[in-house]
Amino acid sequence: MEERILKDLIVLGRAAPDEMKDGRQAVCVGGWSDELGFIRLYPANIHTTLNRWKIIEVPVERNPKDVREESWKIEGSKMDWSQIHHKVTTVGELTRTEKIELLNKIPKVNCIEDLNDSQKSLGIIIPKEIISCEYEERKKYDPRIQTKLYMFTEGPMLKDNPFLVKTKKNYPMIPIIKWKCPGPCKLKQGYHKSQVIMLEVYEWFRKHGVSEETKRKLWDNLRICDDEYDKWFFVGNQNNYRRSFLLISILRFKRKLKR
Ligand SMILES: [Zn+2]
Repeated sequence: MEERILKDLIVLGRAAPDEMKDGRQAVCVGGWSDELGFIRLYPANIHTTLNRWKIIEVPVERNPKDVREESWKIEGSKMDWSQIHHKVTTVGELTRTEKIELLNKIPKVNCIEDLNDSQKSLGIIIPKEIISCEYEERKKYDPRIQTKLYMFTEGPMLKDNPFLVKTKKNYPMIPIIKWKCPGPCKLKQGYHKSQVIMLEVYEWFRKHGVSEETKRKLWDNLRICDDEYDKWFFVGNQNNYRRSFLLISILRFKRKLKR
């Protein structure tokens, strides 16, 4: 099996945890490597400090169940699940200027369908217009939080919330953004409707609860409709639903100069 050490992975975003078939609660990490392009690391455990804009070094191997070119998993992730966060080394972090330079440098697509057409599973796209921000009811909502576990004996999240890791299905709603790509859009309807899975969004609801107020405030906090911010959408598809792209991260920077 192909193995290597990624030495220059810049983290662009993390998805909220989901639950694997064997009960492991796993986070998907997406990023950029100058050497290899877009990278997906899955699964990572909740203690893996893979914050956005960190530059990390990590030994990886291919996942035989995921043939997408961008997909890798941390070496030995199943056997060493409770310890895999020790395999990730932070080697640096980008400055504000470097972050914007990187976003300008990374190849971008004009429509999500361009990713489908070229069989890519991760990409960056600059939204032209936000049409609406809303919530849909989660059909597979499960209020029971998984507690059988994979005991973690250490890690930052342990203090705060020992074993209650909420996964996406533990929330009754799905945040959705309707938006227009720079185009020309290849969809008949002329816009995209994307589920937001970014970790920060679910952390907001985990910490502050789900109410009409927190639901409204989320969009304000993301500055999603604030024209003073430049935005980049980092999107990725799912292994089982290749044509459906989700919003892994909304990267935004306040413009320094008024246009
Ligand atoms: Zn489009």
